[in-house]
Amino acid sequence: MACIFCQIIEKTLPADIVHEDEDILVFKDINPKGSIHVLLIPKAHIATVNDLETHHIPVMGHMFEVVQQLAAKWDMVQQGYRLTVNVGRGGGQEVDHIHMHMVSGWTRRS
Ligand code: AMP
Ligand code: ZN
Repeated sequence: MACIFCQIIEKTLPADIVHEDEDILVFKDINPKGSIHVLLIPKAHIATVNDLETHHIPVMGHMFEVVQQLAAKWDMVQQGYRLTVNVGRGGGQEVDHIHMHMVSGWTRRS
């Protein structure tokens, strides 16, 4: 059984997708901690930051390009926003498919 984020990539699990390209998918977090809360994921299943390899560098770099595009599109550049990558259970990671939270106007700091 594919992980839940791989199921979202495969479109077997519904999600509110806000950006998709060859390598990256971005969708709204189901439990938002701010007025904007999206998750950026590589389409390749990589479990955690600890599993990143040299050949993943371009896609992870591209993730920041997509962050910039979304920040501009949603008028978040001036106000700022938070990017978080939790790593492992002790780091608060619940889904073992690497993801970056992008949050603006947060209501809870966690
Ligand atoms: P983390 O704790 O860093 O692993 O974050 C996992 C995030 O995934 C949490 O903020 C959840 O609310 C979110 N999440 C879990 N399942 C889904 C889903 N099916 N669709 C959208 N977001 C989800
Ligand atoms: Zn996965």
